[in-house]
Amino acid sequence: MGFSTDAIHVGQEPDPATGAIIVPIYQTSTYVQEELGKHKGYEYARTSNPTRSALERNLACLEGGRYGYAFTSGMAAINALMTLLKSGDHVVASHNLYGGSFRLFERVLKDFGLSFTYANTSRLPDVERAVQPGTRLLYVETPTNPVMEITDIAAAAALAHSRGLLLAVDNTFMSPYFQRPLELGADLVLHSTTKYLNGHSDGVGGAVILNDSALAERLKFLQNAAGAILGPFDSWLVLRGVKTLAVRMRQHDANGQAIAHFLAAHPKVRKVYYPGLPTHPQHDLARRQMKGFGGMIAFETGSLENAKTVLRSVRLCALAESLGGVETLISHPATMTHASVPPEDRDRLGITGGLVRISVGIEDVEDLIADLDQALARIP
Ligand SMILES: *Cc1c(COP(=O)(O)O)cnc(C)c1O
Repeated sequence: MGFSTDAIHVGQEPDPATGAIIVPIYQTSTYVQEELGKHKGYEYARTSNPTRSALERNLACLEGGRYGYAFTSGMAAINALMTLLKSGDHVVASHNLYGGSFRLFERVLKDFGLSFTYANTSRLPDVERAVQPGTRLLYVETPTNPVMEITDIAAAAALAHSRGLLLAVDNTFMSPYFQRPLELGADLVLHSTTKYLNGHSDGVGGAVILNDSALAERLKFLQNAAGAILGPFDSWLVLRGVKTLAVRMRQHDANGQAIAHFLAAHPKVRKVYYPGLPTHPQHDLARRQMKGFGGMIAFETGSLENAKTVLRSVRLCALAESLGGVETLISHPATMTHASVPPEDRDRLGITGGLVRISVGIEDVEDLIADLDQALARIP
C-alpha cells in the first residue's frame, strides 16, 4: 500500500474487544493470565504493551523495516542502539551530530569502554581513514543539524559493509516520508519521535527500526532488560501524529522551500543552508536520496548582534529548541542546541554567532515570511 495508507492502518486494526477504530491506550502494568503459562502474549508491560506494539509495527512498516522498538526518548533509543556494542568497540560518527548524541558518546559511553572518532561523513575518504580494526559501527546523521550536510547513505552503506561495520542512520530530520535509509542499505534507523513523527510538540519519544532478526532479537532483549520503553499514552500520541505525517511533511517542505528562497534573496541574509536550494553544495545528492527537502533551514545573519535582533523581533516564530512540530520554531544553535560543542569545533562546522535555525511549521507561509521580513528589517 501507499505511505499514507500504511501510516493510517498498519498496526491499527479495529480493537478486537470493542471494534474501536482507534487503538486504545492500554494503561496497564500487567495482564491477568488464564492459568500458569497460559496468556494472550502479554505478561508485563515493560516487556510489551499493545499500544506500543501497534506503534512499533507502524513505524517499522513506514521505514521499510521488519522490526521496530519504541523508547522513552530519542536519546534512550540511541543509548539502546549503542548497547548492541561491547566494551572495546570503536564507532565512527558524523562530526556534526545532534548535541545530545555527542554528549552521550563523549561523557557517558566512553566511560564504558566504547571509543569514537568523528569524521565528515559527507566525505567518504574521511570515513575510510577513520575506520580502525576495532570499528563496529558507522553512525550517521543526514542532513546534519544545523548546517544541513548530507551523507550519501547508499555509498556509506557500501563502505560500511565492505569493512564489516553496521550502518546506523539518525533519520529524525527527514522522517521516513522523505528518506528511507534501510532501502538505501542502512542496517539501523533511529528517530527522535519527539520531532516530525509525533509532529505536534506534545511528547518525547524515540524509535529504532531494523531488518536483521538476530540484531532485532538482541535489541528487544535490551529494551526489556534496560527498560527505557515508551509509555502507552505517548505511544498513542505518536500513532495519532503519524497518521498525518505525509500531509504535514508535504507542507513543511513547501513552506521550507518558499522560506529558503525568500531568505536566499534577502539582502540582510549572508548565506542559507537548505538542501532544496540549487546553491546547496550537495543539492544533487539530496534530490537523489530524499523525496523532499523538509522544513529545516539555517541562515547566516553576519553577527551575534544581528541574530539577537532577529530572534528578539519575530512575533509568530517561537524562540525555542526542538523541531518538527506544526508550529514554526526559531533558535540560535551556538548558544542553545550546540552550546556544549567546543567553540573551535563550532567555528569549523559553521555554527557561528550569527547563525539562526528555523524549523518551519505548517502555518500559512505568507504569515511566516511577513514575520521574518519584519524581523530581518530591524538588522541595521
Ligand atoms: C532531538 C533529536 C535527538 C534526541 O531526541 P530526544 O527525543 O530529544 O531524546 C536525536 N537526534 C536528532 C537528530 C534530534 O533532533
